Amino acid sequence: GDQAELLRKKLEIHVKGDVIPAPIVAFSSCALPQKLLQNIETAGYGMPTPVQMQVIPAALDGKSLLVSADTGSGKTASFLIPIISHCANFRRSNFSNHKKPIAVVLTPTRELCIQVEDNAKLLGKGLPFKTALVVGGDPMARQLYRIQQGVELIIGTPGRLIDLLTKHDVELNDVKIFGLDEVDCILQRGFRDQVMQIFRALSQPQVLMYSATISQDIEKIASFMAKDVTVVSIGKPNR
Ligand code: ADP
Ligand code: MG
Repeated sequence: GDQAELLRKKLEIHVKGDVIPAPIVAFSSCALPQKLLQNIETAGYGMPTPVQMQVIPAALDGKSLLVSADTGSGKTASFLIPIISHCANFRRSNFSNHKKPIAVVLTPTRELCIQVEDNAKLLGKGLPFKTALVVGGDPMARQLYRIQQGVELIIGTPGRLIDLLTKHDVELNDVKIFGLDEVDCILQRGFRDQVMQIFRALSQPQVLMYSATISQDIEKIASFMAKDVTVVSIGKPNR
């Protein structure tokens, strides 16, 4: 309503497309696992950053988003917090012998994947979910073994994940959230076909896509992957 609009204006949050929930001003305003809220506090995150204020409630609501915000604005936690929440809640209600991943995050480089995984460990400490890092430079057999033992979240580069998908049958059809960090860089590196191939292995996931700039091309990819994508850009109008 009007309150949401006022808050967005003040925080320079621009929203275009499908209606999404209002920004939150405190992490505790969202129904997050208690342990996750504790980890957020321990990490020293007093207040959510503007991108987190808008993305976290919308992502928890199941919305697919195309997000643009400056470097250093806290985008990683904006997708990891909803993903960790999903993974933790999923495990709790399905503590049977569930083995397949339920979330995938792609980034353009091994280094970025490691950073995202470090963040996931920090924010996910003590929560019942496992991650697998799927990047070049580490033995594929070890990554495959870890996935086969059962992980909720895969964090990887498109090239290595495609290797695993095509050479071994890693099943991604239970993946509910597909995160794409720095998607403009992923595409610049020539990974478009791999990203599309990975997407086709998923079954209509929620998409959380991040890009430094929102080009028509990237908007097209986002709306190909999910219907009703909302574009969220922070600090500057999205065009
Ligand atoms: P981006 O991906 O937008 O470039 P990052 O997600 O890497 O930025 O975050 C930049 C830095 O800000 C990191 O050191 C991260 O730990 C920190 N950070 C993230 N969210 C918060 C927050 N709510 N409060 C304080 N620091 C935060
Ligand atoms: Mg980032």
